[in-house]
Order: sequence, then C-alpha cells, then structure tokens
Amino acid sequence: VHARTRAKPYDTDALAALVARTAARGGHVRVVGTGHSSSDILRSDDVLISLDDWSGIIAVDPERKEARVRPSTTLDNLGARLYEHDLALPNYGDVATQTIAGAVGTGTHGSGRTLQNLSQMLVGATMVDGMGHMRRFRVEDGVPFRAAQVALGTLGIFTELTLRLVPTYDLERREYATSTDAALDHLKELIAGNRSFDFYWYPRRDDVKLRLLNPLGGGVRALPYARLLERTEGHSHRVTPTHTGIPHHFEECEYAMPIDQGPRCFRAVRARILDRWRATVGWRVLYRTVAADNALLSSASGHDIATISLHQNATLPWAAFFADIEQIFRSHGGRPHWAKKHGMHAAEIAPLYPHWKDFHGVRAQCDPHGVFLSPSMRALFFGAEA
Ligand SMILES: Cc1cc2nc3c(=O)[nH]c(=O)nc-3n(C[C@H](O)[C@H](O)[C@H](O)COP(=O)(O)OP(=O)(O)OC[C@H]3O[C@@H](n4cnc5c(N)ncnc54)[C@H](O)[C@@H]3O)c2cc1C
Repeated sequence: VHARTRAKPYDTDALAALVARTAARGGHVRVVGTGHSSSDILRSDDVLISLDDWSGIIAVDPERKEARVRPSTTLDNLGARLYEHDLALPNYGDVATQTIAGAVGTGTHGSGRTLQNLSQMLVGATMVDGMGHMRRFRVEDGVPFRAAQVALGTLGIFTELTLRLVPTYDLERREYATSTDAALDHLKELIAGNRSFDFYWYPRRDDVKLRLLNPLGGGVRALPYARLLERTEGHSHRVTPTHTGIPHHFEECEYAMPIDQGPRCFRAVRARILDRWRATVGWRVLYRTVAADNALLSSASGHDIATISLHQNATLPWAAFFADIEQIFRSHGGRPHWAKKHGMHAAEIAPLYPHWKDFHGVRAQCDPHGVFLSPSMRALFFGAEA
C-alpha cells in the first residue's frame, strides 16, 4: 500500500497523539487492516497506520449476545474464539482473512436473502476522531452511528467494536453444476428458499456452479436440473468462508443494484462478456444477494441488493474489461463496492446515496481538519478538483 511514512502505535494515547499531530500540520493519515481492498481507499501519500497488534476479544456478554473486540481481529480468529463462547457471526464473505474493522468499514458482505452485510453486526464503537479525541458511537445515536458503520476509515480509527452476534449454528454446504439458463429459470426460488445462495458463472463454458448454505437438512432439496458436486457440513465459521490464504493474483470489480434489477443486469453482463470478452476473460462472475440496511454509505442502504462481481487475472489487462461492464452495472442503478476496482467519480456516486449529505455532515464534525481525507479519499468523496 502506497504511503510516505508508516506508523504502528501501540496504545490509544500514542494513536490519538499521532492523529492530533498530523492534523495540526495539515497532513493526513489512513489506516490499514490486512490491506485486501484494491480500490484507492487505502492509499496514503502521508502517514499509513497499522494496528496489527490490536487483535482479540476484549469481553463477551452472553446475555446480550454481544462481544467487544479489537479492530484488527481477523474474522477467522474471531469466529474460532466466539465459538468457545457459543456465539457466531451471522454471515461471512467468501474469505475470513479480513480484519473486523476493514470488513465492517467497507460493508463487506456474503450472500443471503435475509442476511445483511457485516457492518450490521456493529452496535457500538470507540474511535480516535480527526482531532485525536476518543469518540463513542452507540446504535441508539441514530444518524451518527449509521454514518460510522460504513465509513472507510474517514470518521475515525476504530479502537474497539461492539458486535451483536447469534448463537452458534451448523450449516450444510451443497454445490451443484448446472446450465446458465436453468440457474436463471430457478433463480427466484433458489434465493427465496435457501439461507444463503449464490452462483458462479463461468464465461468460457457458459455454465454455472450453484452454492447453497442451509441449516442441516434445510433449504431447497429438489434440484433435478443440477448435478451435485460436493456436500460439506460443520460449524458456520468453518463452512461459510470458502477460500483460505490471500489470493492476490486477481483483480475484482463489483457493483450492487436493487435486487429486482439483478437478473436483467446479469443477462446483459453475460451477453456482453460472451460477445466481447470471452476470449480474453475466463474468470468467473459471482452473483449474490444481500438484505437491506440503513447504514448511510452501505451498498444495501435503503433496499435489498443483488451484487455482481467480475474477476480477472491480475497479470492480464483488466481495466478495459471492467470499464465496459461497469457501464451495464451503472445503467441498472449499480453502486460500486468501496473496496474493489471501479471507475466512478464523486459526482456520479453521490446521487446513488440518499443520505450522502448526512454522512458528510457527521464526517465534518468528526474530522473538521480532514486528516482522514487522503488525496484519493478526497477525490472519491468530492471530486478530483477538491
Ligand atoms: C480474496 C478476497 C476476497 C474478498 N471477498 C469479499 C466478499 O466475499 N465480500 C465482500 O463484500 N468483500 C470481499 N472482499 C473485500 C474485502 O472484504 C475488503 O477489502 C475488506 O475491507 C478487507 O479487510 P481488510 O482488513 O483487508 O481492510 P483494508 O483493506 O486494510 O481496509 C479497508 C478499509 O477499512 C479501513 N480500516 C481498516 N482498519 C480500520 C480501523 N481500525 N479503523 C477505521 N477504519 C479502518 C481502511 O482505512 C479502509 O478504508 C474480498 C477481498 C479479497 C482480497
């Protein structure tokens, strides 16, 4: 990650002093978790802070099913530790290598008709704000809290997060191969009938892998149009994330659109890839759904969403491919994933978020000197000329 200086403060006082000092000289800081985000949100032309050692569970409240956790706890570690307390995360994305602060702060999500993104676990947080002051957010605070849930590290630096969890649960994962047309014909029932459902579309073969995650014995059982490839079961934190390690050999672009737009958008994406990109892009396309929330900058803010992600080998040209398909995403009301590659500008992003101004009102209060606004963040929020 690009930065002029790297810093690793070991306690809250040192962190707060570093932010206050940088703000006083008109500089800026960004904070990095595991650095998985591939958009420009991590880039700092000044100070980049890492809180690697700020990891682990601070306390668990079994009655309220809540846990106070440190910001750099990875989801892997969190899931395993919570299991010892009979608690679990309601969902994960495809991997569990991210930090909780990075996953919450970018609205990282998995799939599921009634499952929300990971920022929705948050019920309280402590941050060092842009003046170097400690600031607490609680769900009862309303708008400021909803701003803090998905804030890309621009309201403050999380020093502690309080998460609302669920009792431990087991899941069965089933994966099937089928034709693209069969998947689309049965899409509605697959989304409605499974706890978590998504599919990968493979452009070269023009076929599909369906992935179903359900309580044991639950979900859609009859899929006469598909061939079972694999079945696994176990604790949710073992079965839900599928990839281990950090496969940094691909680039990714993802947009979220209102759920009803999803199938039409996917059909248009499929047609365009088959027409123009099949020979150069063999990498899969992922289709998921996420339930609505009210975090101001969440990609699911205000409505249920379908998400479509493009992947391309990082050593091959990806920019023209992504830019071409992004036009289709945008024409279906798509919001770009904050943590992945996209080519949208501030003036195009702002109208997609009804609470854009409210977010920036809270942001300005928390960070009046703009210490968290690196040039890249400034461009993303206010435009290149800002
Ligand atoms: C292999 C892979 C698979 C992925 N799968 C999914 C998926 O299934 N679903 C999905 O939605 N996304 C997915 N992503 C995106 C990923 O979840 C996000 O990039 C996430 O932010 C990564 O977490 P991180 O710890 O690396 O955060 P980073 O990328 O390091 O940081 C992300 C943001 O959080 C901020 N931040 C970090 N720490 C703090 C802190 N202490 N306080 C305040 N702000 C902080 C940073 O400033 C930055 O703005 C995937 C990425 C990869 C590389």
